Amino acid sequence: MNRVSRRESLMGLSALGIGLLSPSRAIAQTKARLVVVGGGFGGASAARMLKVLLPNSQVTLIEQNETYTACPFSNLVVSGERALGQQVFRYDALSRMGIDIIADRASGVDAAKKTVSLENGSDVQFDRLILSPGIDFRWGALEGYDQTSTQAMPHAWKAGEQTLRLREQLREMQDGGTVVMSVPAAPFRCPPGPYERASLIAHYLKINKPKSKLLILDAKDNFSKQPLFQQAWKQLYGGTLEWRGASDDGRVSRIDAEAMTLETDFETFQANVANVIPPQQAGAIAATAGVANETGWCPVNPVTFQSTLQSDIHVIGDAIIAAPMPKSAFSANLQAKVCATQIARLLAGLAPAPTTLVNTCYSFVSPDSAVSISGVYKNDGEFNSIEGAGGLSTLSPVDGDRAREANQARDWFAAITQEAFG
Ligand code: FAD
Repeated sequence: MNRVSRRESLMGLSALGIGLLSPSRAIAQTKARLVVVGGGFGGASAARMLKVLLPNSQVTLIEQNETYTACPFSNLVVSGERALGQQVFRYDALSRMGIDIIADRASGVDAAKKTVSLENGSDVQFDRLILSPGIDFRWGALEGYDQTSTQAMPHAWKAGEQTLRLREQLREMQDGGTVVMSVPAAPFRCPPGPYERASLIAHYLKINKPKSKLLILDAKDNFSKQPLFQQAWKQLYGGTLEWRGASDDGRVSRIDAEAMTLETDFETFQANVANVIPPQQAGAIAATAGVANETGWCPVNPVTFQSTLQSDIHVIGDAIIAAPMPKSAFSANLQAKVCATQIARLLAGLAPAPTTLVNTCYSFVSPDSAVSISGVYKNDGEFNSIEGAGGLSTLSPVDGDRAREANQARDWFAAITQEAFG
């Protein structure tokens, strides 16, 4: 066997139609069947990146909904600053790139046969599969809170009808009412999201229903950007907003959606409007595919995002265990690009290359002012923060700092949605 054919056969490259070309040509000429499940920030970005890197490969995106409704900026819909329509994105641009879009729910994955089964009864074959299913709720983990309770006590933690429901309930509440939020223990989607929501609800109450109160019952004592949020709350919403951490009896242990009550260990709180953010886990298909462990989340190789439980399946986005990297759209989008690049390298017989990962999360503390947190992470071996890199907005802003961050947040949202769906 000559050197070339030996190496080709070792790598299984002949089967993929790749010879010993330069790395970039080898990558570009790869022909593989690449399937992505979930067309959110992770999945849509991954499908696009795969098609850009591997134009000769067949890229298929399986998404259960016709359109995507984005969670980032949806707290501004809750507070009435933004229309839900501004959160909705289509898959037409991905189609035009040559990505096959299947509008159906993936109901199963056979890792041995390398097929994804669809609810319509058909199967889709893959050489490599990326799952980016986001989150599902752990119904029953919070006593009394199930799918039916979401009508009376919306979670609004998947954007869409629930977002509007919470918005409507706030609008209909009489002045002098009490809004109660229940926030779960980590890990959950968007660690600063509940506190951004609290800020914007407090803003709405202060302007429109000044005799009303917002109480945040939290299963934790510490949360993302805590000093920044608490500074803003004191300056902007003193008297309107109260936060109770776990050690101050803040953890909600039971819900009664009919009575509109939330119970902690020692107290029962009566709410006029209740926003319950339930405990979460990886989207259901992850467990079905055998890539979620006993925690409900998915362990992955941090370099390639290959599942450590099923190596031909990659998992990205909210579904994975990547702490200290947070579950954010920013993270999902970057993980998608890195994962697609590593798949392209693996298919071309190249070794995956460790990368540096970053995340920035903006949070509005009022409709015109925002704060941010950034982190930089190593992924060689495990996900780790790089000490000294990243940081928080200053606690001593000078005129215009917070407004500038709000503008940067708007630019970020425009850029990331363009990159995923545009
Ligand atoms: P998702 O975006 O949820 O996408 C998953 C997709 O998979 C969905 O479209 C779903 O329909 C589809 N799907 C699931 N299962 C199946 C199946 N079996 N078959 C077919 N399709 C399936 N992040 C930020 O970076 N910045 C922010 O400012 C920010 N603000 C937020 C505010 C709020 C209120 C919330 C709730 C979240 C916020 N986030 C923010 C977090 C961000 O929304 C998520 O981290 C991000 O959406 C994760 O992307 P994903 O691809 O993992 O999951």
